[in-house]
Amino acid sequence: MKEEKTILVARSSMPPFEEYVEKIRPLWDSVWLTNMGENHEALSRELATFLKVPYVSLFTNGHLALELCIQALGLQGEVITTPFTFVSTTQAIVRNGLTPVFCDIDPKNYTIDVNRIEDLITEKTSAIIPVHVYGNLCDVDSIEEIAKKHHLKVIYDAAHAFGVTYRGKGVGSFGDASMFSFHATKVFHTIEGGAVTTDNEELVSLLYRMRDFGIKDEEIVDTIGPNAKMNEFQAVMGRCNLVHFPEEIEKRAVVWKRYRERLSGVRGLILCEPQKDVEQNYAYFPIVVNEKQFGHTRDEIKDVLAMHQIFARKYFYPLTSQMECYKGRFADADVKVAAWTAERVLTLPMSAVLEISDVDRICDLILSLSDGK
Ligand SMILES: *Cc1c(COP(=O)(O)O)cnc(C)c1O
Repeated sequence: MKEEKTILVARSSMPPFEEYVEKIRPLWDSVWLTNMGENHEALSRELATFLKVPYVSLFTNGHLALELCIQALGLQGEVITTPFTFVSTTQAIVRNGLTPVFCDIDPKNYTIDVNRIEDLITEKTSAIIPVHVYGNLCDVDSIEEIAKKHHLKVIYDAAHAFGVTYRGKGVGSFGDASMFSFHATKVFHTIEGGAVTTDNEELVSLLYRMRDFGIKDEEIVDTIGPNAKMNEFQAVMGRCNLVHFPEEIEKRAVVWKRYRERLSGVRGLILCEPQKDVEQNYAYFPIVVNEKQFGHTRDEIKDVLAMHQIFARKYFYPLTSQMECYKGRFADADVKVAAWTAERVLTLPMSAVLEISDVDRICDLILSLSDGK
């Protein structure tokens, strides 16, 4: 049998080697490697412009960005969130000593179901932490209305949504703050990295100290905080990748289109539909497999692909509420849509370097299982 190349669910985009080396060369003269160096400051300015937000605070990873943002906004008691996400979202809430209250998701785009939020609000609720899953935009207008009415804070987990805009506004401009992840597997990366975007200047200066042990100056430490600073090598990777981001998105759009040409309309396969007024980033290509209509389960598709060295992933399964560390710990939530989706979702390989012939091979394998259109 012919050797097949391995295709993973994601592949990090790398800037041309010379571009990166050219930009790190000055570090051998300055020997300023971290602690809000020149590239750190430049990247935060460049990202603020690119993301169309007033302020960008950089962190060593997205998870700490979210954890510290929750701490800085002083959230207490209960936080309404969804279990259909990467475990980081729930961990950040619980590690801040807060109680996650799990809300169900919208079956169309897998983000928080805004019609279910108000039923979950109690006198202990302090915030809503929704997730722009797969880069799909949450219903930000309804969430803002609910938050205003009940005096709740809103922090978006925008880890998947880098570069997404809604009616021309940057995705990071909604709510009190948004968290982005710049992990190597995300559409835009700094190897590891993350950010908080906000229009709240006070939050920015609190986060500045918080990510550096709470240090205000040489002798004053006025905040409790860990070390969560982004270093210069990470920041340079981000500056290089940002220059190439528009090409990155164009290439991903071609892959995305091909998947849709081949898989939309297939009985039993549910695809994410583009959202009105949203410019998307083509970060992921999830399919939801209704086994009764398709004739095979999600796991069968995953196994067939794996036999050919193609590794799709069950993002997101299991629900975070069902993970060993959380099972039975919080009130059983009515999250039927999230549970149904988690059992059936499969995220197909997606990257800027995925070739159309590979997309076709993936689709051929999936369609070979289908009973026909
Ligand atoms: C990647 C991710 C995170 C965590 O970001 P890191 O940069 O890996 O720490 C949080 N939430 C979601 C939804 C993610 O996908």
